[in-house]
Amino acid sequence: MSDQPAVIGDHLVYCDMCNTKRLRSQCKKTWQGFIVCFPECFEVRHPQSYMVHPKGDKMGVPDARPGGPDIFVDSSQPPNWTNPEQGTPNNSIQPREVDQ
Ligand SMILES: [Zn+2]
Repeated sequence: MSDQPAVIGDHLVYCDMCNTKRLRSQCKKTWQGFIVCFPECFEVRHPQSYMVHPKGDKMGVPDARPGGPDIFVDSSQPPNWTNPEQGTPNNSIQPREVDQ
């Protein structure tokens, strides 16, 4: 009934990949728990499976300080620029006349 000769101390198994009947001593267990022919169906575990996953980076600012109060600008009014040294309106910037 079986084409495999009997071996004392060994037993027959079916390969989980190709479903052939083999002696257990001719098979190997994979990292996934499958018993497969060795070396025909055996695949080594990919090296990237052993990679160490990096920990998260520290994204925060190391010397953070609390922010100041919020300053809101009324954009519906023209700006009221003043010279901080004189306390007068800054008239140094004049509109240029356009030659026609
Ligand atoms: Zn196999």
